[in-house]
Amino acid sequence: MPAMKHELPVENRVIELISTLQGAGFEAYIVGGAIRDLLLGRRPKDYDISTAATPEEVRNVFGRRSARIIGKRFRLVHVRHGGELFEVSTFRRAPSPESAAVGPDGRKHEELPEHMILSDNSFGTAEEDAWRRDFTVNALFYDPVRSELIDHTGQGIDDIRSGVVRAIGNPRLRFEEDPVRMLRALKLVGQYDFSFDAATENALFAMLPLIRHAAPSRLSLELEKILSSSYGDKHLLAFHDYGLLEYFLPEIDTAWGSPVCEYALNLFNERNCRVAEGIYRNSISLAMATLALPFVEQQCGSAVGTLWKNSPDARAAIAGVLDRLFRPQTMMNRMTLSAERVLQLQALFGEPKSRPEQLMESRSYAHSRELLLIRTAVQEGDVAELERLWPPVGARRRGGRNDGRNAEGEEGGGRRPRRRRHRSRRGKEPES
Ligand code: ATP
Ligand code: MG
Repeated sequence: MPAMKHELPVENRVIELISTLQGAGFEAYIVGGAIRDLLLGRRPKDYDISTAATPEEVRNVFGRRSARIIGKRFRLVHVRHGGELFEVSTFRRAPSPESAAVGPDGRKHEELPEHMILSDNSFGTAEEDAWRRDFTVNALFYDPVRSELIDHTGQGIDDIRSGVVRAIGNPRLRFEEDPVRMLRALKLVGQYDFSFDAATENALFAMLPLIRHAAPSRLSLELEKILSSSYGDKHLLAFHDYGLLEYFLPEIDTAWGSPVCEYALNLFNERNCRVAEGIYRNSISLAMATLALPFVEQQCGSAVGTLWKNSPDARAAIAGVLDRLFRPQTMMNRMTLSAERVLQLQALFGEPKSRPEQLMESRSYAHSRELLLIRTAVQEGDVAELERLWPPVGARRRGGRNDGRNAEGEEGGGRRPRRRRHRSRRGKEPES
C-alpha cells in the first residue's frame, strides 16, 4: 500500500523521538490510537511508536537511563523523552501457532481456547505488523518526519471516515486469539459512537463468553485505563449494551437501570466532562469514588453522615462497597485507599461543626472537594457558591493567592467558566 502525503499536527517531541530512531537507521512510525484520534480531529492522549529496532536496539539508541524494557507476553520499551513516557514496540508478525501457544512462563496451557495467543514476540516488517493489529482503524501508520500516512489494510481511512469497527482478518479467530480485543472493540464503539461491521458484530456476540479466559491483570489494566479516560461512562454503556459488563463488572451490571446506578453514571459522566474540559485533572481514585458514592450512600443509609467520624464500621462499609463494585478486577491498593479517603471526607463537607481549615489540610481535600462539586452540579445546586465556600487547594480563605495547587503540587482546579454540557460524541470528520 503506497504512502500518501498527509499533514497531521503531531507534537514536536514525538517527531524528535521518531527522527532519533530513523537517524539510527531504523524504520519508525506513530501507530494506533494517536493516528485514529488525529484523523478524527481529536487530541491524542498518548502516542504509540512502532519500529524495526528490537527492544535492545531501542534501549541502545536512547540509553538505559531513558529506556526500559518491559512486558513478557508482549515485550516493549518505555522511553522517556521530553518529560513524557512513550511506548515503543518492535514490528510484530502474527506468531506461529507453536510460539503463540506457549506462555511467558514457558508452559502450554491446554485449558485455554485453542487459538489463544499467550506470547506475541515474533518480530516482523511494518506491513506484517499492521496486519496483526486488532482493527482497521487501529492499523494506520504515520511517519511525521516525511508526513506520510500508510494504510496497509487499505480499509482503515475509510473505516475512520464512516465510523466502522472492523476486525482485521477473521473476526472469530481474532477474538479467540485474544478475547481482550472484544473489550477494545466496544471501547471504540462507546468512545467514538462507531458501529460494527456485521461480521465483527456477529463474532463478538458468539465469542463474548471467552472474555473469562482473558488474563485478569490485562482486564484490571483496562479498567484503570477506562477510569482514567474521559469516556468511561460511554465505555460502560457499550459494555452493557453488548453484554460484556456482566463479565467485566458484574455488580454494576446487576444494578444497571436502578436509580442508584443511574445516579452513579450521571456523576461519572459529569466527572468525565470536567476532565475533558480541563476543569479538573484525571484521577483514577477520584473516578472510583465518584462511581461508588451512590452505592456507599445506599449501603449506609442515614448513617452516611457519621462516616466522617472515621469509625471502623464506616471505613469497613466504604471498603466493602469499593471491593464489590470493581470485583473481579483488582485495583491497586494505593488507589483504593485514596478512594476510601475521598469518600470518607464527603460527609464532612455537610457537617456544620466541621472546621474547613482542618478539612483543607487533608491530603484528600482536592479530590473530595471535586467530588462535592460534581455532586452539586449533577443535582443542579449552586456550584459557584460551594466553590467560594470551599476554595481550591492552596488558596487561603481570605485574600490568599490562589494558584490551585497544594504543597504536594496536587492540582485542585480553580474557578473556570461554566462549561458546556453534551459534548458532541463524534470528533470532526477526518480529513482525507
Ligand atoms: P488508546 O487511545 O486507548 O491508547 P489504542 O488503540 O492506542 O487506544 P493501545 O492499548 O495504546 O490502544 O494500543 C496501541 C495499538 O496497538 C492499537 O491501536 C492496536 O493497533 C494495537 N493493539 C493493542 N492491543 C492489541 C491487541 N490486543 N491485539 C492486536 N493489536 C492490538
Ligand atoms: Mg494508545
